[in-house]
Amino acid sequence: MKKVGPTRGLGVRYGSTVRKRYMKVMIELKKPHRCPQCGFNRVKRESVGIWKCKKCEYTFAGGAYTPVTKLGVVAKRAAKGAPVEETAKAVAAVESATEEETTE
Ligand SMILES: [Zn+2]
Repeated sequence: MKKVGPTRGLGVRYGSTVRKRYMKVMIELKKPHRCPQCGFNRVKRESVGIWKCKKCEYTFAGGAYTPVTKLGVVAKRAAKGAPVEETAKAVAAVESATEEETTE
């Protein structure tokens, strides 16, 4: 079976655990996500923790790799007027602290 997919090109440098994880992350990143405002699957990641809908331009803070996480409390800070960059940093910090806690 020929190995193709998001990890192709990484070689063996990072080990299987990291490659598996990288693949999962890349799949999540590449999936179109649903916009909480207009409902279209047009949300793309702008940067870590920042998501933007290409349909209605709605921008919001979410998880580092997926827009919807249990970190909704942090994301809500953006809605309350916290600077987007600060929120993204907070999201990234919590993400890295809890990254082993996958519930899937
Ligand atoms: Zn939208």
